[in-house]
Amino acid sequence: MHRITVVGGGFAGLTAAITAAEAGAKVTVYEAHHTLGGRARTAEGPYRTNEGPHTLYSGGPHWAWLKQRNLIGPLAPVPPLEAARLRLRHHGVLRRTPPFAMLKLLRRSARQAPVDSDFLSWATEEAGEEGARAAAHYSAVALFHHDPGALSAAFVQERLRRAAKLPPEAHYPRGGWATVVDRMAARAWNLGVRLETLSRVDILPTDTPVVVATSLEAARGLLGDGSLTWTGGRTALIDLAVRSRRGDAFAVSDLDAPGRLERFTAQDRTLAPAGEQLIQGQIPIAPHESRADGVARAEHLLDLAFEGWRERVTWRRESVANGRTGAVDLPGTSWRDRPAIDRGGGVYLAGDQVAAPGVLSEVSFNSALTAVSLALGRNALDLKRA
Ligand SMILES: Cc1cc2nc3c(=O)[nH]c(=O)nc-3n(C[C@H](O)[C@H](O)[C@H](O)COP(=O)(O)OP(=O)(O)OC[C@H]3O[C@@H](n4cnc5c(N)ncnc54)[C@H](O)[C@@H]3O)c2cc1C
Repeated sequence: MHRITVVGGGFAGLTAAITAAEAGAKVTVYEAHHTLGGRARTAEGPYRTNEGPHTLYSGGPHWAWLKQRNLIGPLAPVPPLEAARLRLRHHGVLRRTPPFAMLKLLRRSARQAPVDSDFLSWATEEAGEEGARAAAHYSAVALFHHDPGALSAAFVQERLRRAAKLPPEAHYPRGGWATVVDRMAARAWNLGVRLETLSRVDILPTDTPVVVATSLEAARGLLGDGSLTWTGGRTALIDLAVRSRRGDAFAVSDLDAPGRLERFTAQDRTLAPAGEQLIQGQIPIAPHESRADGVARAEHLLDLAFEGWRERVTWRRESVANGRTGAVDLPGTSWRDRPAIDRGGGVYLAGDQVAAPGVLSEVSFNSALTAVSLALGRNALDLKRA
């Protein structure tokens, strides 16, 4: 029987562990934290905020895999009345529909964007500068970078299409991502995976193949390999509970600058106590900008869409996610140029900044599958079907 060690019990580590165990391997997962899930953890207590992911995109490879194993659990669909309260800020005011020029870039028939150009230049040629800027800013919801227009046109176009698709690809696990993590952990446990929490690995074992399913930054330290770097975003996060008020927006996407607010209790009342709403904002910030700059922009959006929010606040938290929102690809690069999964000597990387396709956590999923297939010498497609 194959033995395999997985370092990290986040979405990538759990995917790797389940996949390897399904293929008959004896798996041990070491997780430094006292709970599993990594960035996919949901806070305990009255306000069930997600640190990282909210949205499970149904067009992604993980969707079918999770569904097939009954790991998604109940979803929280957005009620149509709430969906109608989506607002877009454009030229300083809130509107219900995107500018016409931006729609040009969303057409199915739109040309495939090139890898080598930056998105803003390419999209300006396709739809004019106003539509290009609005589209670039909208795409930040799925890439968390302060200047999406400067990234590879192909990279941004893929995220823009996925984020703006109708009917929406975005789905929300009821109770937050912790429910998906719990189900994945139970599946791993039932397959005989040893799950060791509070177990930080400092030196990689050499007696089994190892899947290093940590952030790329942690993998850099563990492998002692300074070349393990890739570009990522930096985002100010604001979590806010406010007393309920009829007429609050469901979400606000900023088309004047990258950023989005979303009231997650619109679709999932379990996330906050009765009579309160949970709003989360993500405002990508430039290297020279501070958390306070991002928070100020979030507050401006709140002023526009959540009347009297300052007097209604019951709880508030702010933070910055630095390099924790996945890989972004600069012009001339694609996922194939990111750090390779196979590091040699039986060590494989899985995570959201390595050489695998997909949007956000889908990169963690795809790389976990590839890492296990390489470690076990099996075809990734066979493993996916196992
Ligand atoms: C603000 C924000 C919003 C996001 N929104 C979305 C979204 O809507 N949809 C989406 O799909 N994705 C989203 N993401 C991305 C998603 O959170 C990540 O891609 C995904 O959770 C990464 O999972 P991972 O397992 O690769 O890494 P992690 O979740 O970072 O897991 C790595 C694990 O390794 C452990 N570890 C590290 N070092 C060691 C060590 N030495 N020994 C043992 N254990 C170790 C860590 O404790 C951690 O649990 C978002 C991320 C952020 C920050």
